[in-house]
Amino acid sequence: MDFQDDLIVIGAGSGGVRASRIAASLGAKVSVIEQAPLGGTCVNLGCVPKKLMVYAAHFAEEWRDAQHYGWDVQEPTHDWAKLIRRKDQEIARLNATYERMLVNAGVTILRGTARVVGPHEVQITHPDGAVSLRGGKHLLVAVGGKPKRPSFPGAEHVLVSDDLFRLPALPRRVGLIGGGYIGVEFLGIFQGLGAEVHLIHHDALPLRGFDQDVRAHLTDELRLNGAKLHLGRSVTRVDRLDDGVLEVTLDDGETLQLDALVAAIGRAPNTERLGLREQGVVLDERGGVVVNGHFRSTVPSIWAVGDVINRVALTPVALAEGMAVARRLFGGLETEMDYEHIPSAVFCNPNVGTVGITEAEARARFGAVDIYRSTFRPMKLTMTDRASKSLMKLIVDRASQRVVGVHVVHPDAGEIVQGFAVALRMGATKSMLDSTLGIHPTAAEELVTMRTPID
Ligand code: NDP
Repeated sequence: MDFQDDLIVIGAGSGGVRASRIAASLGAKVSVIEQAPLGGTCVNLGCVPKKLMVYAAHFAEEWRDAQHYGWDVQEPTHDWAKLIRRKDQEIARLNATYERMLVNAGVTILRGTARVVGPHEVQITHPDGAVSLRGGKHLLVAVGGKPKRPSFPGAEHVLVSDDLFRLPALPRRVGLIGGGYIGVEFLGIFQGLGAEVHLIHHDALPLRGFDQDVRAHLTDELRLNGAKLHLGRSVTRVDRLDDGVLEVTLDDGETLQLDALVAAIGRAPNTERLGLREQGVVLDERGGVVVNGHFRSTVPSIWAVGDVINRVALTPVALAEGMAVARRLFGGLETEMDYEHIPSAVFCNPNVGTVGITEAEARARFGAVDIYRSTFRPMKLTMTDRASKSLMKLIVDRASQRVVGVHVVHPDAGEIVQGFAVALRMGATKSMLDSTLGIHPTAAEELVTMRTPID
């Protein structure tokens, strides 16, 4: 059969764009279909604008700390509208860069909404209402996910992360439901920018899946920053009062008066209305595309990568998955995607950075483990009135002495852990860390100078 394209990619986010560019560079004829600005969640409604807002929030602390270093600082004020305008300009620049990259790679960009209507056919509804059909030897579904919405009475008053990037003004009192990545990151953003913040989380600690010490330490830090933590609590209803204020009722009967309530309770694959089931593509119970180890769905010509497959919802993972599919289809490379040692950072205040496994996972897997842990006041804060502490933790398999987990809570945790991710992939042992000289004075040197296991 002759097709217009060798590969049709649905979704120009991290995974889709990477797959398109690599496939085109390997000689494939590629089209990518996108209904929204190019770059997907990461560029438009996720990692990038979020990190810009994290930077914006962090200046508040910098200004306060600066006074202890001799700077005469007037009480600063923040202009939310300007931040959003500047952020939008930067995102528009990135959208244009993505377009240029795709065009330069020889990829055809098709604007519109895709629906899979055959194993090789996609129907595109274009912005002007016109409908066209496109055929491809392979289809790659890379449509990502979208925020889940809660279902309690009054849920229509609740915002999700997509809304936070275009709020007209900074809400004075904000509640965040969910102690995951987005909940704690936006807690820090809103707080840094001057809002009163409430975290409403159904578990005793935020960041399930992270090391227990990290979770406990971060919780203390959030409290120290002044966040109001409603742990072990759920929202039962929300009412908008006559003055526009939201009255939020918790399951213990407490009520909170807030100006905005945000649900950050996870994301769901974006497969509704894509027509995949009708074509025989099996979806999991959350709507994610079920794929094999090579990202092939139950329909052999249809592949899927990124958040839509419900594995690890992180940009670098989607990039690697997209690259793996393109190289397999058009480069003859048969390598398996390696999900071991995926580092990640949570850009809350302070940041959490982690690679490898938690202490609990290590005990279950290896039995005997050595734990090294250090909590200390970062040097930069010693001349200030801030009591914030950092946490560094190493988990070592006692038998092999391999380092199997590195966990950091520190303003630069993401930056610190990236390098240690290389070490873990290379199989670093504790003695290799011991024989590595520190860079003095830094916080990261703590990770190569911890000598005595606490356990
Ligand atoms: P997460 O899965 O990280 O967190 C969801 C939170 O909501 C958890 O604390 C969860 O609790 C809680 N929760 C789940 N369901 C409910 C419910 N019905 N009612 C109340 N609380 C609930 O999702 P996010 O939305 O924060 O982020 C989505 C994903 O995006 C992340 O998992 C991550 O993969 C990615 N991301 C990555 C970032 C980064 O790399 N820095 C930044 C932002 C997002 P429990 O865990 O107990 O179920």
